[in-house]
Amino acid sequence: MTASETTTDVAGAALLRTEGLTKQFGGLMAVDDVDLRIESGDIRCLIGPNGAGKSTLLKLIVGQLEPSAGQVFYRGEDITDLSQHDRAREGLSMKFQVPAVYGDLSVRQNVHIPLQREVSRRDIDAEIDETLESFDLLDEAGTRADDLAHGQQQWLEIAMAAALDPDLLLLDEPAAGMSVQETERTAEYVHRLNDRGVTLLVIEHDIDFVRSIAQSVTVLHQGEVFAEGTIDEIEDDPEVRRIYLGEGH
Ligand code: ADP
Ligand code: MG
Repeated sequence: MTASETTTDVAGAALLRTEGLTKQFGGLMAVDDVDLRIESGDIRCLIGPNGAGKSTLLKLIVGQLEPSAGQVFYRGEDITDLSQHDRAREGLSMKFQVPAVYGDLSVRQNVHIPLQREVSRRDIDAEIDETLESFDLLDEAGTRADDLAHGQQQWLEIAMAAALDPDLLLLDEPAAGMSVQETERTAEYVHRLNDRGVTLLVIEHDIDFVRSIAQSVTVLHQGEVFAEGTIDEIEDDPEVRRIYLGEGH
């Protein structure tokens, strides 16, 4: 069965929807029966204690991991069986938690990688410039990625994930290890992407960062959706506080 044969309800569909999404690693339920719905234009933050299943959930959505059960719908279309590459072509992209830049390559060469298969040779230099400019990396185009400051390396990763103008961009801890100033700038990049029409699903621990970007927040706990609401609702929720305290946060 192809994805197009299972198309349902495209007109009224959320940009992204998961239904009963589940991932089991041996006896461990890393993601447990998750129903998630993200509307076009949203900036959704995904929070939760360490080991809650946040990274696994994003990997299931982007197609890096296969679910044990459940489905992923994108624009109303069942994409559960599509490869990560095919999902990227449909406009779904992700920056992973573990660094994926090529340290020995220049900043420009790194951005060349996601674009090379999709953009004609004639247009690629202009596309790379445009991407680098959006993340204030044009002056560093010739710098080896390993020689960048930590913050710039993270921005390069986001730039690589954003290079193909995705409609839905998943960011796993984009502000990890950043200074306050770098974190603020990352929030600015997130807003700029959103202004350009990109819907974002962002995992982040830094609550100030979450507050500065989130239109809505989903809390994951032991693989399950524990709470959902505005940042104010989530911060005031005593049950949410309890799960964080239980983890020693
Ligand atoms: P989070 O991102 O919320 O910290 P993860 O999604 O990384 O959580 O992990 C959720 C749980 O699944 C953890 O207990 C983790 O150890 C486990 N896990 C994650 N990836 C794997 C894997 N590839 N194999 C086995 N267990 C895994
Ligand atoms: Mg994680």
